[in-house]
Amino acid sequence: MIVFGSGPAGSALGRKLAERHRVLLLERELPTNPPRSSEGWRIGESLPGAAAVLLRRQGLFDRFLADGHVERGASVSVWESPVPVWFDALRDPNGPGWHLDRVRFDAMLRNAARDVGVVFSAVSGRVQVLREGAQWYVRDDRAGRQYRARVVVDATGRSAALCRSLGLPRHAQDRLVCVHALLPAKEHDQDRCTRTSADVDGWWYSVRVPSGERVLAYHLDAGDPALRGLRSAQALLLHARRLPLLAPVLPESVSHISTQVRPAGSAVLNIADGVPGPGFYAVGDSVLAFDPLSSQGLFHALASAERAATAIAREFEGDLSAGQHYFLEMRHVQARYYKHLAATYARPVRYCDRPFWAQRRDQVDWMGTG
Ligand SMILES: Cc1cc2nc3c(=O)[nH]c(=O)nc-3n(C[C@H](O)[C@H](O)[C@H](O)COP(=O)(O)OP(=O)(O)OC[C@H]3O[C@@H](n4cnc5c(N)ncnc54)[C@H](O)[C@@H]3O)c2cc1C
Repeated sequence: MIVFGSGPAGSALGRKLAERHRVLLLERELPTNPPRSSEGWRIGESLPGAAAVLLRRQGLFDRFLADGHVERGASVSVWESPVPVWFDALRDPNGPGWHLDRVRFDAMLRNAARDVGVVFSAVSGRVQVLREGAQWYVRDDRAGRQYRARVVVDATGRSAALCRSLGLPRHAQDRLVCVHALLPAKEHDQDRCTRTSADVDGWWYSVRVPSGERVLAYHLDAGDPALRGLRSAQALLLHARRLPLLAPVLPESVSHISTQVRPAGSAVLNIADGVPGPGFYAVGDSVLAFDPLSSQGLFHALASAERAATAIAREFEGDLSAGQHYFLEMRHVQARYYKHLAATYARPVRYCDRPFWAQRRDQVDWMGTG
């Protein structure tokens, strides 16, 4: 089996498949161990409590707990109205979840795959992938290598590199981007809440990560002219400090910190015209990328890996429609998710005439019926 991409989805799937098969994990950017300072932080730090079940089934829960991630506190949001609403996970049977050291989490999954025999190899960005008979052939001309396998899996995240090279279209719902920075925490900052706030032309969140530093993230349209002015963390901070929910936990000023911008909107693999035959799968963000508002990306990465592993096992037992059933299941996940997203984006009615919210409300009408 060949899995492209060693993020959470690819590593979790590789570990599962290695119980019965030889697995090669091809990665474009194999991280160094220990990580370089530029790899020291990655956004995407909230893991819902429900993920514990999946980590247990992978035999990784104790290892995960030993890694020093921090249990999440309450969530507080200014969304439907300017009055903050608190949500405490006390009544959530899954528990509060965690704020992760994300680089450590991804590395743990990668190492856990390596431990059970998954072989990692670097691959150049451009490879040729084609199917002949019941086999897939992967040619990496730059590295002068060729691989053959019965199953190939796209786990390359939002880039969906394998899907693109096979000509499978992806549908992006919107041009949401996230501009974010890791800020030094204020002195005596012990806040463990997830703070989320709707704003005139976008929405924010801020949490403290296990290092004690604070993530500040703003989500807006890629075409919003304000984006150009948010290259420094100081500019982002000034913009955020207008908001009563965020101001008390943010430092007053920072220097020499730049922001990063990442695409963050929902995107889905369009499989209306079918998939390129048995032995092809896509997991994690490459099959369905979630808006960060949902905090579901990592859960989905682990869950889709588990479902794909089951489908691949069935395919090996002779069920050639196992892949189709898997992609159908992902469509159901997508439909449920869009309904929730629709309802959430429709709520801040006080901003409903602003382009950011109006555009989503219109899209959302369509999404909700999808
Ligand atoms: C701003 C933002 C905030 C987020 N916050 C959260 C959050 O709080 N909670 C949450 O659960 N989720 C969050 N997410 C989503 C979460 O980060 C993703 O859902 C998760 O990383 C998906 O895992 P993955 O393995 O599918 O993809 P990725 O983590 O993107 O991994 C893909 C891997 O494939 C490799 N790759 C790429 N191209 C190639 C290629 N051509 N060949 C080989 N390898 C390749 C990459 O180097 C990478 O290692 C957030 C996302 C964004 C953008």
